[in-house]
Amino acid sequence: MKRLIIILALAASSLVAFNACNGSSKTGSEKHQKKGKYTCTMHPDVSSDKPGVCPKCGMDLVERDTTDK
Ligand SMILES: [Zn+2]
Repeated sequence: MKRLIIILALAASSLVAFNACNGSSKTGSEKHQKKGKYTCTMHPDVSSDKPGVCPKCGMDLVERDTTDK
């Protein structure tokens, strides 16, 4: 049983370290959302693979500008 506690403690401390590293920038989960082709003009963090509406404001999603250099 002691081993489980140690594992949990290690997991918790590594999570804290991870959050500390990324605290100043954006959340780690955002990286997963960058791929979507469609986004909301008001909420750049919203993204979708297909046309739809923004879950935050209900606006139509627009095709992401892919002409970035
Ligand atoms: Zn929106």
